[in-house]
Amino acid sequence: CGIVAYVGSRKAYPLILKGLKRLEYRGYDSSGIALLKSDELNIYKKKGKVTDLEAELAGRHLTATIGIGHTRWATHGEPNDINAHPHFSNNRKLAIIHNGIIENYASIKKNLIQKGHKFQSETDTEVLIHFIEDIQSETGGSLESALKLALKEVVGAYAIVVMSVDHPGQLIAARKGSPLVIGIGEDEYFFASDATPIIEYTKDVVYLDDYEVAVVKDGKLSIQNLDNTETIPYIQKLEMEL
Ligand code: GLU
Repeated sequence: CGIVAYVGSRKAYPLILKGLKRLEYRGYDSSGIALLKSDELNIYKKKGKVTDLEAELAGRHLTATIGIGHTRWATHGEPNDINAHPHFSNNRKLAIIHNGIIENYASIKKNLIQKGHKFQSETDTEVLIHFIEDIQSETGGSLESALKLALKEVVGAYAIVVMSVDHPGQLIAARKGSPLVIGIGEDEYFFASDATPIIEYTKDVVYLDDYEVAVVKDGKLSIQNLDNTETIPYIQKLEMEL
């Protein structure tokens, strides 16, 4: 139900945790954070409040500067630690957070199971990240092109952010029907469901449109639609105060 992601030079964990707390008003039943450090992808998730996740991680030395975080309002699969986001791809190289519903997940899942994919959770979201991985390994293309191909097949609503072990420093986001705001700082980027987790750090934001994909790569933001046409990001100034 709430999304926060960060890439830059600050510590991602405290920033994402704080952002998730700002999104608590949206309602949720569980929360989770994935952090990428060198080529190590760690996912921490917990049923209950963001403070329950925080308590579990207390005292840990979490120094990653890229990460994604989520508060979940369960639609597919009961609220529990396993169904909480982020979710992994089959090869555990991709992690995803997702707001919304993938309505045609069951048929995609059936097909992926036949191809040998093993699922941990009952969520529609886990199906989407396995689907992206599957397309990438079939086509041999880039992660963003696999993600676009997957989204063309998807029926439903989504705001997603994907992080990859093979591309540390890169975040890919997309939306249809669920909100997603990108904050642009100095050599850092923020993604969130609304601007409240971002306002403290920057006032320059881009509101992603339906069927747009935002890619942060090599410190630069680019926005494309699902047919690969580039659009110039329209940067707005936030007027709200904290
Ligand atoms: N449909 C997804 C799930 O049940 C995402 C729900 C949400 O928006 O939090 O896990």
